[in-house]
Amino acid sequence: MKYIFGLLGYPLHHSLSPCLHRQFLQACGLQGEYQLFPVAPQDIPGLQARLQDLRSGLLQGLNVTIPHKQTLLPFLDDLTPEARAIGAVNTILLREGRLLGENTDAPAFAQTLEEYFPEPSGADFRFAEQANPSRRALVLGAGGAARAVILALRQRSWQVSVFSRRPEQAQALASPFEVSAITARPVADDFDLLVNATPAGMFPALQGCPWPEDWGDLPACSLVYDLIYNPAETLLLRRARLQGLPTLNGWPMLSRQAALAFTRWTGLTPPLKGLSPC
Ligand code: NAP
Repeated sequence: MKYIFGLLGYPLHHSLSPCLHRQFLQACGLQGEYQLFPVAPQDIPGLQARLQDLRSGLLQGLNVTIPHKQTLLPFLDDLTPEARAIGAVNTILLREGRLLGENTDAPAFAQTLEEYFPEPSGADFRFAEQANPSRRALVLGAGGAARAVILALRQRSWQVSVFSRRPEQAQALASPFEVSAITARPVADDFDLLVNATPAGMFPALQGCPWPEDWGDLPACSLVYDLIYNPAETLLLRRARLQGLPTLNGWPMLSRQAALAFTRWTGLTPPLKGLSPC
C-alpha cells in the first residue's frame, strides 16, 4: 500500500511537515508521500475537494494549518473531545466512513512539558476543577495554539493566566478554560512557566518579541517556552537565556504533533530520536 498524506493551509512554502513525514515513512518502512495543498483562505470548494479525496480513499490523512484550523470544522462529521474544546483541528482521518477532526497540538505540548514538569505516574488528566497553586503559567497569545496549550495545562491542574494584545480575546477564554485573563500589561510575577503562543519573533520578523523591552525583565520562571521553531532561538528565548532562565523552542512540539498524526493515520509510532533537522 502507498500512503498519501497532505497539508491544507495557506501559504505553505515554509512548511516542515513534508520533511518530517518523509522521515517517519522511511523509518517505519512504509511507501508513501506527503503533499502540500495550498488552499487560499476563502476557497471553500478547494477545501471540500481535498476532504472528498480523504472520503474516497485517495488520501489517507490530512494535516491542517493556518488559516483553516477553525474554518474547516463545519465540514467534518466528528470531532474528538479535545478538538471540540480547543475549537480547532490540525489532523483529519477517515474513521468508519466519517471524517474525524483531531488536535494533536495539546498532547504534543504536554509530552514536551513532561520533561520539565513530570506528572506522577497514573495521573488522571481530566480538566482540573482545583488548580495547583504551585504550578503557575503565563500564556502570551489567545489564538488556536494558546487554546491547545491552555487545555493541556488545565488538564494537568496548572493555574493559568493569559495575556493577549486584544484583551477581549483573552477574556473569551476565561470562562471555558477557567483561566485568568490579564487585561493590563502582565507583571513579572512568580510564574513557573512562560509560554509564547504568538507569532511575535517568528521568521522573517526576527525583531518581534511578545514581551516588549519596556516591560522589563522576564518572569524568573523554571521554563520559558516559545512555540516558534523558526528561528531556533527567538529574541524572547535569547533574552531568557541571558537572564539565566531555561528555554525550549517549538521544534520538539512540532515533531511530536506530526508523529501523533502519523500514528493516527498508520497505527505506527515513528521514532523521534535521530530525526534530522528540517
Ligand atoms: P493564531 O491562531 O493566529 O493566534 C495568534 C495569537 O497571537 C493571537 O492571540 C494574536 O492576536 C497574537 N499575535 C499575533 N501577532 C502578534 C504580535 N506581533 N504580538 C503579540 N501578539 C500577537 O496563531 P496560532 O495558530 O495560535 O499560532 C501561534 C504561534 O504558535 C505561531 O508562531 C505558530 O507557528 C506557533 N505554533 C507552533 C506549534 C508547534 O508545534 N511548535 C503548533 C502550533 C502553533 P491577534 O488576534 O490580535 O493578532
